[in-house]
Amino acid sequence: MVTAGSAATARTGGTAVAADSESAAAAAHTDGLTALAAASAVVDPELPFVTIAELGILRAVDELDGGRVAVTITPTYTGCPAVSVIREDVRVALADAGFPDVEVRTRLSPPWSTEWISEDGRRKLADAGVAPPAPTRTTLLTITVRCPQCGSPDTEELSRFGSTACTALWRCRACTEPFPRVKER
Ligand SMILES: [Zn+2]
Repeated sequence: MVTAGSAATARTGGTAVAADSESAAAAAHTDGLTALAAASAVVDPELPFVTIAELGILRAVDELDGGRVAVTITPTYTGCPAVSVIREDVRVALADAGFPDVEVRTRLSPPWSTEWISEDGRRKLADAGVAPPAPTRTTLLTITVRCPQCGSPDTEELSRFGSTACTALWRCRACTEPFPRVKER
């Protein structure tokens, strides 16, 4: 069992082995692209500049007997429609890497936490103008959301429903720029 905690450092830059159908498994081994690396390189369909490993969605990649691979994911929040896309993207990425026999498992407990987003993931979210969720486990505290454009804490939520299902729309009162924010659970 390999946990996804180390997956962020095992990224391959999104390259997948272009294997022909006959020697797919052999190509994967000669190129050294592991199932973990292939799954870790899958990007989030709604936030395509971060991988599912960086977002903490990818929980485990287990290589089972007979070349079978079990991938465990935890969606960022219940009902996120991106989950079905992620499942398919994981299957395709692993098939390209020489692992055609893949089972994608969804684990809902423990629930996804914004704390699972890696440092790389937080930086990429900030670079893309998506305010990273505050790294706190409590929802009772008032969380300061800083504007990704100017850094002002004087922000407000305009809508729970942003441009994608997993982001809310916020606005900065200081520079008046709207920005998306990854939803808390
Ligand atoms: Zn601003």
